[in-house]
Amino acid sequence: MDKGCVLRVIQVGARVRVGTAETIHEYKGMTEPNHKCQAPKPLTPNDCVTVKNLTAASVLVTGPCGCDFLLWDRTVEEGTRTTDDVGVTTWDSLLDRVRMWTMVRFALNTDIDLWVWVFIIAAAAHLEQLAVAVLWTAEPKPTPFQEYQPKMTLGQVVGSIRKKSLLDDATVEKLDRIAKLRNSVAPFREGDLSRGQYNGRHVFTDPAGLRQLMDDVDAATNVMGQWLQNSGLVTDEKRHA
Ligand SMILES: [Zn+2]
Repeated sequence: MDKGCVLRVIQVGARVRVGTAETIHEYKGMTEPNHKCQAPKPLTPNDCVTVKNLTAASVLVTGPCGCDFLLWDRTVEEGTRTTDDVGVTTWDSLLDRVRMWTMVRFALNTDIDLWVWVFIIAAAAHLEQLAVAVLWTAEPKPTPFQEYQPKMTLGQVVGSIRKKSLLDDATVEKLDRIAKLRNSVAPFREGDLSRGQYNGRHVFTDPAGLRQLMDDVDAATNVMGQWLQNSGLVTDEKRHA
């Protein structure tokens, strides 16, 4: 463990446990900071903290709120956590590692951040597939859908849909907003202020923003699903039968 190292909080209370993807560190206690932040919050499991300073017995970490917590009296430092006692890789340890990798790689500090991020990526992929199907249906035939793979991002597909006036303006606007949100969260860009912004709200911290996003994803899904049904695209097999 070094300065700048990111640790995930595993347990707080009588024992404080924090870990990297490989190692768990255990302390006897934790000192709450004299919060100087806007939104004071105690550390909870799955928070990510950054090592600011360390001694043999204690470590000072910066929490998600930006304030410093002192973890004191180190008791044990466990070895590798990707395998169990007999050296067998376990699902729990691997999933911890997957979670840790995603959180660190994309600067996701909490479980809320992680799940919202996963939702944005998954929803954009889902809408992209529907949007490509809409575009394909309007193309000169016959290129089987399986072979129709325009190398386009959701934003570019939406651009083509807009040019050809295939969907109503409101749906195109929603898709455009979702594509921009998707591009703002991956790849991670340090200091990118557009990150997580959706329709003037921040989906990682504002529940109303997240609700709006989910409503828009559902609405766009329904419109495109109906559009594809109306255009006779039930399945590729049926269309080409
Ligand atoms: Zn604070």
